[in-house]
Amino acid sequence: MAETKFVKPKNVNGHFVKIKCKDCGNVQVVFARPSSVVTCNICGATIAKPTGGILATSGEVVEVL
Ligand SMILES: [Zn+2]
Repeated sequence: MAETKFVKPKNVNGHFVKIKCKDCGNVQVVFARPSSVVTCNICGATIAKPTGGILATSGEVVEVL
């Protein structure tokens, strides 16, 4: 099984981001600086991890709110 790669998105200057789950395509609004792991509401995949600052995500940031 391939390891999921988490990347810190650039140019995130809002409080929330819309992240598209790469496993199921669900788009979800997530706090940009989460204090705990964020999972997809549909498939349960981990879509974001806390880093102490801007989140790191395994999905795709589709919009900054
Ligand atoms: Zn999903």
